Amino acid sequence: MSKYDVIVIGGGAAGMMAASRASKRNKKVLLVDQKDKLGSKILITGKGRCNITNGCDIEDIIKNTVRNSAFLYSSIYTFSNMDIIKYFNDNGLETKEERGKRIFPASDKASHVRNAMLNDIRKSGVDIRYNTRVSALLIENGVISGIKTDEGDIFESASVIVACGGKSYPMTGSDGSGFLLAKNAGHHVTALQAGLTGLNCKEHWTQDAMGITLKNVTLTAVYDNRKLYSDIGEMIFTHFGVSGPLVLTASRYFLDTGFDKASVIIDLKPGLSDEKLYDRIGRDLLENSKKKFENSLHKLLPSNLIDPVISLSGIDREKQCSQITKEERNRLVYTLKNLTLKVQSGRGFDEAIVTVGGVDTKEINPSTMESKLVKGLFFAGEIIDIDALTGGFNLTIAFSTGYLAGDNA
Ligand SMILES: Cc1cc2nc3c(=O)[nH]c(=O)nc-3n(C[C@H](O)[C@H](O)[C@H](O)COP(=O)(O)OP(=O)(O)OC[C@H]3O[C@@H](n4cnc5c(N)ncnc54)[C@H](O)[C@@H]3O)c2cc1C
Repeated sequence: MSKYDVIVIGGGAAGMMAASRASKRNKKVLLVDQKDKLGSKILITGKGRCNITNGCDIEDIIKNTVRNSAFLYSSIYTFSNMDIIKYFNDNGLETKEERGKRIFPASDKASHVRNAMLNDIRKSGVDIRYNTRVSALLIENGVISGIKTDEGDIFESASVIVACGGKSYPMTGSDGSGFLLAKNAGHHVTALQAGLTGLNCKEHWTQDAMGITLKNVTLTAVYDNRKLYSDIGEMIFTHFGVSGPLVLTASRYFLDTGFDKASVIIDLKPGLSDEKLYDRIGRDLLENSKKKFENSLHKLLPSNLIDPVISLSGIDREKQCSQITKEERNRLVYTLKNLTLKVQSGRGFDEAIVTVGGVDTKEINPSTMESKLVKGLFFAGEIIDIDALTGGFNLTIAFSTGYLAGDNA
């Protein structure tokens, strides 16, 4: 039986930051993870580039945090986005800022982010145990005394930080087992939902458009005629419907309304007013006046989108361009600016960027991350019921809450 000052369960972004901070306070720290490497999820973040944090004002971090944003104040003011950038710079990782103030490693390599943290905790003398799954928290009379592993090993400590992540992309190790540990300690776990996902759509034509990426389109998320979200940016058609940055954000809004009356409306030409688009189509029709209508749209649309758009407009594809009426031209304008897809559901946890829901924030002290129910038990990262939109905000939550837990454990 080994004794530590602090035990951290889970070597993701939150757990590694917690271990780093605790060891810098001269604590004897053990970090256990059930996988054979640390930071498996970091490696797949930002399409392998890792959007570490965001360079915006702290108030904007709070605004981009969807659930329980007020819970974040203490941790983000203790260890802010600027502190996160400094931490990585101090640990040899150069960073750069991109569109929307997103911060990335200058090398564009998520592995460099993970390695910077790993080197830091190794240098700080943190004991790391791989392939070690924690099956129980040892609690006596409301006070933590250690952990028990699947193999039956016991490690003693008066402080245990649970940083097991959520249950999205379970192959990275975040398989939801942390929620069971929390529940067995008496904590409530709010309903868990797959957050920031692609959207399954009822229309089948997206399969024909599969793989088409649209940049600079406007996507509006609508529920029962109520506009929930609208932004300009990038999206992609897939075999199941739609995905990409705009769609991931839209999906988060539908989690709060449900999907039964959900749709997304895509404006394929947000840079052109209805009138300008009408004139532009007029010019294309004139240029192709002797051709069939279906052969006149190549300048306006990617080829795989032409068929679906013609079908949706209801215009006869065989009609000669010179025969297209004003009313038909208006219909085409409407279709291009209001391409509507009915949403069936979001994608599941296997493809979710984040888990929505988690350990109830009412039962955690936001100034220390310590449980209000069990002395010496701390939580950090995605396991807590707090989530944010894309832009580096979810890692920011993991790093900030991890630091605060490591500062107090
Ligand atoms: C594809 C993808 C892309 C993303 N891109 C970004 C991005 O660019 N920017 C951003 O801000 N956010 C991004 N996110 C979200 C972000 O990665 C997570 O919110 C964040 O990594 C959560 O960190 P965490 O430390 O709380 O949990 P995790 O990183 O999930 O770590 C949890 C760790 O706990 C271990 N563990 C779990 N249970 C046990 C147990 N019982 N015993 C022992 N060990 C256990 C796991 O093996 C794992 O290593 C992305 C997520 C995904 C899936």
